[in-house]
Amino acid sequence: MAHLHSTVLILGSGAAGLTAAIYTARAGLDPRLVHGIQPGGQMTITTDVENYPGFADVIQGPWLMEQMQTQAENVGVEMFPDIIVEADLLTTPFKLKGDGGNTYSCDSLIISTGAQAKWLGLESEQKYQGFGVSACATCDGFFFRGKEVAVIGGGNTAVEEALYLTNHATKVKLIHRREILRAEKILQDRLLNNKKVEVLWNSVLAEVIGKTDLNLPQVTGMRVTNVQSREVVDIPIDGIFVAIGHTPNTDVFKGQIPMDEEGYLITKPDSTATAVPGIYAAGDVQDRIFRQAVTAAGTGCMAALEVEKYLTALNAKEIAAAEQS
Ligand code: NDP
Repeated sequence: MAHLHSTVLILGSGAAGLTAAIYTARAGLDPRLVHGIQPGGQMTITTDVENYPGFADVIQGPWLMEQMQTQAENVGVEMFPDIIVEADLLTTPFKLKGDGGNTYSCDSLIISTGAQAKWLGLESEQKYQGFGVSACATCDGFFFRGKEVAVIGGGNTAVEEALYLTNHATKVKLIHRREILRAEKILQDRLLNNKKVEVLWNSVLAEVIGKTDLNLPQVTGMRVTNVQSREVVDIPIDGIFVAIGHTPNTDVFKGQIPMDEEGYLITKPDSTATAVPGIYAAGDVQDRIFRQAVTAAGTGCMAALEVEKYLTALNAKEIAAAEQS
């Protein structure tokens, strides 16, 4: 077990964290980066990326993150495959602990721990998680080749996942609680024009139906309630993908950095600064609205530039104090 001190510590290795790392390394601040629970972040569970500028052809999410990580390594960022489980941010230097027992301290901290998929909270959903219930079509879609699946949600993620699943499944039923999709028009058009897709409007998943064979649970159907007519139907289905949004990964910072009611870190207007001097937040952990790889990279860059300024001012203060004493 080691103790490591750095001027800048970055938490998270998605687009925000890696961009912050590249910028702080190039500014000569010798940053250290802790990967977190999902190295490479949410882009590693995406397939086609068509909207990250700079690539005329479609690229793959995992490939893009590998490139960012290699770019960060090439400019000298030191990385740790660790997960932060404790944080003491009330005094400086900030102190953090990894799940393997390593401890970290730092003069400034960039939090880019991202967000993770939300679940509906049904008991049956939990029972069949990993056995036909998933929150990642690109991870698990392959297992449903030639089968019928459902996607829950009406946002961009749900529609993208439904479209992706049409590559594998014979039929995709999108279950949405309203009669208007939240997803972008272009995605809606693609969805509604796809013959493999059926949308169940004004509907919610009430229960996952399944069986247990040889001790292995398996999804066989779903109970769906129409929220207007209150009609309840049981529909045979092989897999269910829940795509109803995300929760920021901020549990470890509770009570130490101001966050909103959903746990997103609050940053000052036009800035990545939190209310705690020296702590900055970038990417999905502080962004409930845009949540794009390119905006995450943008705020990662902002955080790096703000940290640089903060450390310069801190150094100047320390030098002035030393001269006075
Ligand atoms: P969103 O919050 O946009 O959508 C969540 C969807 O799930 C909504 O349709 C919502 O319904 C529904 N929902 C939420 N809670 C429940 C519940 N308990 N029961 C049933 N349905 C529920 O999340 P997304 O993950 O889709 O997108 C997040 C952000 O990421 C967005 O800003 C999106 O634009 C962006 N994104 C962009 C992509 C791209 O540009 N290629 C790809 C993926 C995401 P309702 O509509 O009724 O609120």
